[in-house]
Amino acid sequence: MFADLKDRLVLVTGGSRGIGKGIVSHLLDAECKVVFTYQNNGKAAEDIVDAARHQGAQCWAYQADVSDPDRSRTIVDNIEKDHGPIYGLVNNAGINNDKSFLTMPQDLWTRVIDTNLNGAAYLSQAVMMKMLPRKQGKVVMMSSVSGMQASPGQSNYSASKAGLIGLTRTLSHEVARYNIQVNAVAPGFIETEMVAGMSEKMRSQIPRIVPARRMGSVDDVAKSVLFLLSGAADYITGHTLVVDGGLST
Ligand code: NDP
Repeated sequence: MFADLKDRLVLVTGGSRGIGKGIVSHLLDAECKVVFTYQNNGKAAEDIVDAARHQGAQCWAYQADVSDPDRSRTIVDNIEKDHGPIYGLVNNAGINNDKSFLTMPQDLWTRVIDTNLNGAAYLSQAVMMKMLPRKQGKVVMMSSVSGMQASPGQSNYSASKAGLIGLTRTLSHEVARYNIQVNAVAPGFIETEMVAGMSEKMRSQIPRIVPARRMGSVDDVAKSVLFLLSGAADYITGHTLVVDGGLST
């Protein structure tokens, strides 16, 4: 479907599970070279790499905490040294740690902002510095509808996801003349471990609050990410693509 992505090197953060794993799988189907990161789940990462190599695909996994700026810089240097120029970056890694804002301990606030927003900023800077002289590249931020509308109990998460939309817009202008496109995807409810803790009551309300009457799948999100990485999106930048079955409209 996205033939122009063949042989491109794409870096995906948080590729060991959920949406990131789905993105990795779709990129491998498009015959990309894929590097993905994970934080703790080494076994899951190893299984993905083994399965990909078994199919003859080129796939590598690196352990890296995205909230560590030094690690972001060294990992990007190492990836380019070992595997060639990075064409696309997907800042997918993210966490939620929900609690009412007024009683939220500071470390809960900091951890979520550090991972979701600062992590994407550190890696984007490191990768875009490499893309700039090549005058080519695509960056996709994984935002959320929680960054676009009120989401009580998720002040840290929604602030981080709204921050990513602002970062996307501003970065897109700073690098547009270098033929680098920066866009965001804002999923609604997607069936992954992140939403596994959702109460049965909330789950039963999905058909009422989501016009598509179902939760989204990782494939729904992955396909939109591949579109934004592909040549079909060469003149799209600073945009947030909402993938929510109509939830936020
Ligand atoms: P999961 O919890 O299923 O997976 C999270 C991934 O991020 C894992 O690969 C995890 O690695 C990695 N990760 C977490 N923290 C770090 C870190 N500090 N450094 C590096 N990697 C890290 O999440 P989802 O797949 O559901 O979500 C993926 C993205 O999509 C997130 O940004 C999320 O906010 C966003 N999103 C999700 C929605 C949903 O409904 N699921 C809706 C809207 C947005 P490891 O396996 O090693 O722990």
